[in-house]
Amino acid sequence: MGKIIDINFAINKYKYQKPFHITNSISTDTDNVEVCVITDEGFKGYGEVAPSFRVNGETADQILALSKKSKDMIVGEDVKNYRKIFSITSKLISSPGLKAAIEFAVIDVLCNEIGIGVWEFLGGVKNEIETDKTVSIGTTAERVKEAVDIYKKGFKTIKIKVGEDINRDIDDIIEIYKKTKGVNYIIDANMGYTPKEAVRFAKTLYLKGIDVAVFEQPVINYDIDGLKYVRFNSPYPVCADESAKTRYDVMKLIKNEAVDYVNIKLMKSGLSDAISIIELCNSANIKLMIGCMSESSIGVNQSVQLACGYGCFVFCDLDSHLMLSEKTYRGNFKQIKNKMFV
Ligand SMILES: [Mg+2]
Repeated sequence: MGKIIDINFAINKYKYQKPFHITNSISTDTDNVEVCVITDEGFKGYGEVAPSFRVNGETADQILALSKKSKDMIVGEDVKNYRKIFSITSKLISSPGLKAAIEFAVIDVLCNEIGIGVWEFLGGVKNEIETDKTVSIGTTAERVKEAVDIYKKGFKTIKIKVGEDINRDIDDIIEIYKKTKGVNYIIDANMGYTPKEAVRFAKTLYLKGIDVAVFEQPVINYDIDGLKYVRFNSPYPVCADESAKTRYDVMKLIKNEAVDYVNIKLMKSGLSDAISIIELCNSANIKLMIGCMSESSIGVNQSVQLACGYGCFVFCDLDSHLMLSEKTYRGNFKQIKNKMFV
């Protein structure tokens, strides 16, 4: 019982409801790869890869090219020995999204066999979380309208993408603030600023009386000194996203005292490294948020289960499925406005 006999792979294409514009990238659609792990008793577990070429260099075709290799690696293993399987999947270093989907599907099938939710298996701390929703880069009018729509829908946290034009970013956030007072703001520059620009950006907004809960990835991913410079020279908590993929990246960030927050994404780390990063950050008193790439509901489910299980995320940025056109809802959670229930 519990032996893996096969893994199925399928590409699912999704269109964004409207183009999603962040620093140096506009997404209109995504090819995600659904992964299904099957055991000898016929139980199934599901995962999804949302390949990010920008962050991980992954594409759907590349994931499919690894399907035979993935099967060779873990068919015959028992899902009860999931740590042994994680030590095998840790070798998928060029494909962290595939690592994530397989690792989650292994835990999902194990939980199906024993009859509990993945969130319970992962600790069962919470059965409910709240997500933010994201305002992409656009004209001032588009940004303000998008933010006000999110605000009116009852979201308590608005994430705002910046990083292509610092002066317009500052002006637009001031306009958004006037119409959405009382919410938390996560500002994500997706590596778009220099360290000095990031500090100027943060100080200018601060002097306007605007509080920012998290200032995410202000500078290029490899500039750890730059992150640290922003952390100690800006009034806002600084968060690593593109700089924090593996547990080793996060160890380096902690050693360098470079950040206040880490944004964990399963697509960057897999489930195994995400769990290690949680423990590292808890030990170092670094705060956590959880984010996503372009997952559909079945892929966001992976992060919802982790977030509820560990209950350790100050902010959840799990809104990609809300931006895609999806024919069938596949999440193992219930979404009511900004809340997600398992
Ligand atoms: Mg980010």
